[in-house]
Amino acid sequence: MMAEKKKEEKPFSVEDLPGVGEATAEKLREAGYDELMRLAVASPKDLSEVSGVAEGAAAKIIAAARKFADVGNFETGEEILQRRKEIKKLPTGSKNLDELLGGGLETQAITEFYGEFGSGKTQIMHQLAVNATMPEDAGGFNTDVLIIDTENTFRPERIVSMALAKGLDPDETLKRIHVARAYNSHHQILLAEKASEMTKDFHIRLLIVDSLTSHFRSEYMGRGSLAERQQLLNRHMHDLLKFGTINNAVVAVTNQVSARPDIFFGDPTAPIGGHIVGHTATFRVYLRKSKGGKRIARLVDSPYLPEGEAVIQLSEDGITDGVQA
Ligand code: ATP
Ligand code: MG
Repeated sequence: MMAEKKKEEKPFSVEDLPGVGEATAEKLREAGYDELMRLAVASPKDLSEVSGVAEGAAAKIIAAARKFADVGNFETGEEILQRRKEIKKLPTGSKNLDELLGGGLETQAITEFYGEFGSGKTQIMHQLAVNATMPEDAGGFNTDVLIIDTENTFRPERIVSMALAKGLDPDETLKRIHVARAYNSHHQILLAEKASEMTKDFHIRLLIVDSLTSHFRSEYMGRGSLAERQQLLNRHMHDLLKFGTINNAVVAVTNQVSARPDIFFGDPTAPIGGHIVGHTATFRVYLRKSKGGKRIARLVDSPYLPEGEAVIQLSEDGITDGVQA
């Protein structure tokens, strides 16, 4: 499983489909319909809306895409069980939080940390990166890490402090953490695709996107293009999940939300990508501020773990349990 590589996909261009000229192809690509599978599962109405082609023509494009697309195979329950047996858990640095998560962050899943500014999302991402590089007998994966940094908040100095606190060689730790700055949402999507290529050269069991939603929020705010944004975000989330499944990797993402519950729950568009992100993330952890460096983590919507809360401590040394009262 761990050495499994992504299959090389045949280069495909939407112009290969009957009835798709240059202008239509450009519109389809812009809306994220540049893969056969995405076209194959699209609805004629959606496709017509984003590309400007009539619904009848859109239906023909979809039908053609279905003929070409590799729709995927059924797996037996035995195969799925076998893959699930390979699931590993990445500790967070806080025993309280690990316990809440049933032992740590699971591979083959997306774990979303959401909360307001300063709630500790980025600190947790740094700590997870350090932990993943740790030897297996110390609870780590002993692998490299990929970080897609959209807000320019990656700080090698924090990695050094956290590595030292764990008794690791900070330079060796830094060498195993590969960071890419994403300049906009399209770039972010491309980097997630590039992540698969990185697995040819490095053994990677942790992929971080911090923040998942900031570019999508700023670029699509008030443009009346919510559907397009959700479509792209949905696609991105599925790319991330695929990465996690194929590489038996943890995928950790952050999402900033307003601390005001009326905004958070009242307006379905308020937490960025609310529904899309919520349905694709397997685990969601809501962080809120407490006194000092303490933060309260709440597990929300887990498929099989009980809801609950854990207190964690942010410190110079990273994420710990702190001194509990
Ligand atoms: P945003 O939504 O703005 O990205 P965030 O949830 O990512 O916010 P973080 O940057 O992870 O928030 O958290 C910032 C907090 O982490 C600071 O307010 C501070 O409490 C704590 N922190 C950061 N660095 C240190 C450090 N070196 N020592 C102790 N605490 C620190
Ligand atoms: Mg942050």
